Amino acid sequence: MSADMVIVRNEGLYCVPGQFYIDPWRPVERAVITHAHGDHARGGHQHYLTAAPGVQVLKSRLGPVNITGLAYGEQVVHNGVTVSLHPAGHVLGSAQVRMAYRGEVWVASGDYKVEADNTCTPFEPVRCDTFITESTFGLPIYRWSPQQTIFDEVNTWWAANAQQGRASVLLGYSFGKAQRLLSGLDPSLGPIICHGAVQTLNEVYRESGMWLPSTAMVGEVAHGEIGRSIVLAPPSAAGSPWIKRFGDFSDAFASGWMQLRGARRRRGVDRGFVLSDHADWPGLLTAITATGAQRVIVTHGSIAVLVRWLQQQGLQASGFDTEYGDDEAEEVPVPTVVGGDGRA
Ligand SMILES: [Zn+2]
Ligand SMILES: [Zn+2]
Repeated sequence: MSADMVIVRNEGLYCVPGQFYIDPWRPVERAVITHAHGDHARGGHQHYLTAAPGVQVLKSRLGPVNITGLAYGEQVVHNGVTVSLHPAGHVLGSAQVRMAYRGEVWVASGDYKVEADNTCTPFEPVRCDTFITESTFGLPIYRWSPQQTIFDEVNTWWAANAQQGRASVLLGYSFGKAQRLLSGLDPSLGPIICHGAVQTLNEVYRESGMWLPSTAMVGEVAHGEIGRSIVLAPPSAAGSPWIKRFGDFSDAFASGWMQLRGARRRRGVDRGFVLSDHADWPGLLTAITATGAQRVIVTHGSIAVLVRWLQQQGLQASGFDTEYGDDEAEEVPVPTVVGGDGRA
């Protein structure tokens, strides 16, 4: 048996023959980045390679770093390893990393979602011998409704609040989740107000050619219109003075975790919308099967459960211990970057 192409080192997932890291959590010379969420894309690396649609997001989050963008499907050879990036359907620019070396193919998924949405290129299964998969929602209880069902629920909630003159505050991760929610809102219901953290990413999405309904900062909306508005903000804004200005509002949280009994109550919000940018249990199994891989390595999430299930299907399965976090729960802190244009 040949040696493993990808292993875990102190710095992160490491492609041994290629001599580069995938989403490393400590500073390295060469990092291939699957997507710009803070726990996968950290600062301090000397050179970054990421999918071309993700370059602007990465720059907006990390400042002026040395990034090469690679079109989806385009190949580069690095120390004899042919590397290409393929859509992961998670957020704008998210990619799976395909590595081919001496006739063997490994794919590292990063975070992925199987259901297509309007804010990023849809997930694309990639055939491989070994598949390194995430498992954030790797338990059989996680089964998502079609996103249109969730969008309809959000719009119904917003319309009911607007009728009572109460603003609707919708909390969700500022990169990816917020834009996906925006793409499903009915702009005829009232003004759409975004927190600054969300608005910054909206601009990157629009510059990348993604359509989003028009959005405003709170100062741009007439006071009398606030009661008809929906407000998109990161979870970290809950309880802040910024939120309090919306007065007697109704609030909601959008996350895959809202499927858990008690999660909404623990968050202290009026509503929970089950919307995730990760694959649910059937989605994980579909994606894994579609790779044709005989060997599967499971990273962050429900490693033990998914590994056991895959072993029962006759696959060779094991886990990798990583330092990736959970982008469905809390906002991962993003380092403050003052770029050349002075924007924080
Ligand atoms: Zn992510
Ligand atoms: Zn992740």
